This record gives sequence, C-alpha cells and structure tokens, in this order.
Amino acid sequence: MSTDTAPAATADATREAARRRTFAIISHPDAGKSTMTEALALHAQVINEAGAVHGKAGRRSTVSDWMDMEKARGISITSAALQFAFGDHVVNLVDTPGHSDFSEDTYRVLSAVDAAVMLIDAAKGLEPQTLKLFRVCKARGLPVITVINKWDRPGLEALALMDEIYRDIGLQPTPLTWPVGIAGDFKGVLERRTGEYVAYTRTAGGATRAPEEWMDADAAAAREGVDWSTAVEESELLEADGATHDQELFLDGITTPVLFASAISNFGVAALLETLVELAPPAAAFAYDKGGTPERREVGEPFSAFVFKVQAGMDTQHRDRVAFARVTSGAFERGMVVTHAQTGRPFATKYAQAIFGRERSALDTAYPGDIIGLVNAGALKPGDTLYLDAPVEFPPIATFAPEHFAVASSADTSKSKQFRKGIDQLDSEGVVQVLRSDLRGNQSPVLAAVGPMQFEVVQARMEAEFGAAIRLETLSYTQARRTDAASAAELDSLRSVEVLQRNDGSYLLLAPDKWRISTIERDHPELTLEPLLAGE
Ligand code: GDP
Repeated sequence: MSTDTAPAATADATREAARRRTFAIISHPDAGKSTMTEALALHAQVINEAGAVHGKAGRRSTVSDWMDMEKARGISITSAALQFAFGDHVVNLVDTPGHSDFSEDTYRVLSAVDAAVMLIDAAKGLEPQTLKLFRVCKARGLPVITVINKWDRPGLEALALMDEIYRDIGLQPTPLTWPVGIAGDFKGVLERRTGEYVAYTRTAGGATRAPEEWMDADAAAAREGVDWSTAVEESELLEADGATHDQELFLDGITTPVLFASAISNFGVAALLETLVELAPPAAAFAYDKGGTPERREVGEPFSAFVFKVQAGMDTQHRDRVAFARVTSGAFERGMVVTHAQTGRPFATKYAQAIFGRERSALDTAYPGDIIGLVNAGALKPGDTLYLDAPVEFPPIATFAPEHFAVASSADTSKSKQFRKGIDQLDSEGVVQVLRSDLRGNQSPVLAAVGPMQFEVVQARMEAEFGAAIRLETLSYTQARRTDAASAAELDSLRSVEVLQRNDGSYLLLAPDKWRISTIERDHPELTLEPLLAGE
C-alpha cells in the first residue's frame, strides 16, 4: 500500500467495520430459516416480493439448491452470503447448511460470523440440530440472539420455552419482547424495555411488510384486556428472575436476548433487524492464537481475509470453483492482487463476486465482516489467509472428529488418474477428510466424515465432475484421535487400530470405539493421543 493512501483506507475500513453486522441463523430444518431469511431481506427491502431469494422445492424460484442432491432432499448443503443495508448499517447473513452431516461446514461458516440467531419453532422447542449448532456457537464464543418463531401457530407456553432454553443449553434467556396472546393467537408483543405494546396486523401470505402499531400500556390494556395483563404479569415474573438484557453478559455468551416472531407474516422481523444492529457486535479486530501467543489483526490494518468455504460445481454451466472468504481487515477492491499466505503466491481478484444462491453480482469493494466469493480459486482451501502488504497467516480452522470411515477406490481401474484428481480436489475443498497410509496406497485412501451424507456427496461429485465412479467399503472405526510421528509406528502395530496421515502431514489414529482408546491410553501413557474437536 502506498503511504499516501494508507490513512484514508484505514479510516474507511474502521468506519465501515463499525457498521457491519455479520451473522448466521442456526436452526433445525423446518423451523423457518428460509422464511426468516426472506423476511429479513424483504424488510430491508432488498427484494420486493417474498419468495425471490431463497426457495425450496415447491416454492417459486431458486437458489440454494446448487446440487441435484440438495433439490432431491430439500436441504441446503452449500453456503453463501446475503448482504443488505438496514438504516446506516450493512448486514451480512451467512447461510449455514441445514443437515447435521455437514456440521463441519457449519463450523467453518460459524467461524466467519460475529453472532448467531437461534431460530426455534414455538411448537417444537429446542430440536437436536439446534442443540448441535448451538454447541458450535458456544465453542466459537459467539453471542446468540434467540427467536421463537411460528407464534402464529399453536405451540408451547412462552415461559416453558424459556425454561427449556435455560435447562437444555444453559443460556439465561432475557426476552426483549414478550408475546401478547398464546401461541396460535398472536396479538402482538410487549416491548419489555419501554413497556409499550406493538400490535401486529396479519397481511396476506406475509407478502408485504406487516404494519406494526405502537401504543402505550393503557391503550394496550383497553384493546387486549386479559391477554395484555397476562403478558405484563409474566414479564414482571421474568424481571424478578433477573431475565433482563445485559449487554456484557450477552456478549460473553451467558445470556440470550429473546424475540417472538412469525416469520411467515413478518411479525417480529423488524425487531430482529433492530436487535442485530443494536446489540450484535460489529466486525472487530480478528483475534487469533499464534503458537500460544494471542494476536490481533485490527480492522484498520491492510486487507486480510480468511477462506471459510470452498465450493466447486456450484453451477453446472460454469464449472468453477469459488472460495468464500470473510474480510478481516482493510478495504477490499476488486482487481487487487493479494498474497495467498499458505503458498506465498499472488492471487488476482479480478473475479470477486457477491454470491447468494445462484445470483451473482460483481463485487467491487468489501470491508471487514463482508463475505467475498472468489472465482477460479483453485489454490485456496478452507482456513487459508489472503493479505495485502502486511503479511499475516491465521491459524487453520479446527477440523471435527470424524466418526464415519470408508475406503474409496475407483470403480473402473482405467480411471485411476481421474480418481486421484477428484479425491485430491474434494479433500482440499474439505468435503471429506482424506487419509492415507503406505499400507493402503494411493488408490485406496480412507475417507473420514462427520456424517455419512458427506460420502454421498463425494460419490455423486466423483462421478459427475471427474468421471470417476467410486466404490466405498465402510470401515468399522468410529473414533479418531490426533497423534504424532513419534508415536505413529508403535500405535499402528497395536491390535484393531490403524494410523493414517492427512495431506497436511498430521497423523490420525482410528479405533473401533472409545473403550479401545481408553485401553491404549492406559497401557501406553507415553504415546500421544489427543482429542479432535467434537462434532456433537
Ligand atoms: P427451514 O427448513 O428452516 O428453512 O424452514 P422454512 O422456512 O422452509 O419453513 C418450513 C415451513 O414452515 C414452511 O412451510 C413455512 O411456510 C413454514 N413457516 C415458516 N415460518 C413460519 C411462521 O412463522 N409461521 C407459520 N405458521 N409457518 C411458518
């Protein structure tokens, strides 16, 4: 960076970072994530008609179904980011995969956001996938805003839902709004901080912005009678219980502000956007650990970004490979030639794009908190760092402990070249982990996954993209531990376990179950065995 432009760029990046809010929605399938995404975008007036952003089978348009498999299953495997302006703020909503088998992808996405919105179906409460994703947020230290969705439909009691959140995940709920009317009879909400009433009016299919009517307590009491007084009493109970928002406790992951909503009718959507802008943390200095020393990349420093997702075959018409990177510092300008920290090579950003679903638009500038899609990103892997001028290399994103293992081989031996190329590609994208050993050889690597659907993605893509159909032979291991070169040979000689290597040179021990690991730990305390990040 030339010195004369540096101060202006720094001020720009610092100012822009402060108005960025980058978050992801975590939820169980069907809780209403797509509907809420549409509603948020609609509210922020990105789109004029609900349904144009993020569709699924049966709905008009679209988008997150990049792969046929996604369409068939109606789930979203890949991820992208939606950006919209809201008042003086810029909101980045990063999509997360819907299925638990892709929790490793979700973990990577969650490493690129500053907050999470936990969306709960009022009738179902906390569901398994929400719990899993919440644990990832907790491990990442992300502040969580909770939204109880579908309040327009019969569901659980509001107080019971609060108890469930506290009991099951240990977050103290601090509702910002409290429903007036039971689930299924949504009249509006009590704004707990001001004591005002926000009455909602249903609109046809939620296709336009739902009008909200604000009134004081007296007017609310006159209009809603016992429903209002019940809401006030319950809110007082909550207050007596200490369930009141405290910014510091929220940022520390001890409490969660709660909102009640009906995404389908746009109820509570404005409140969510306002809460995000007001309470969620802005894009801030990127803190990381470098060999035990804490380091920070300030947002005003020269450009840096880290890749959190690599996606190939997003569009069968354009067979490209897109790396999604989160800007961590400085200003990004399309055309900039940045350095890829892992190889030291220059990376030209001529084709930077903003990508959401199938919609792509050229992206000219981006600031900390923003997500950029880099096309033709053959060399980039999840966890890689890009920078301009001031070198930086962020630590790799932690990998999950795989629990499913299978030996892959080419179904057609004449396709061994395509087989190797495909496996290497999927390995570097992080679709599965690929493990090798001298014993197994290059033509039969072991694929390691958090969930078995990852194998299906590998099978489908190997055939469709690389013309190399594969055979998979499941192994009966369920456990993996990290080990090192010094311990590898001895561990490998033990009964019923096996040591393999990842392409980064690290060693993994695979074992049939936890008990086998315990016996090894007991009998060979001198050998290195470390747990990997748990996906559960
Ligand atoms: P996702 O799987 O989490 O993305 O969920 P969707 O957004 O696809 O929603 C699942 C189903 O719930 C769809 O039929 C939606 O129309 C419906 N839905 C979403 N939000 C609401 C809501 O607030 N109220 C009601 N009654 N239905 C909703």
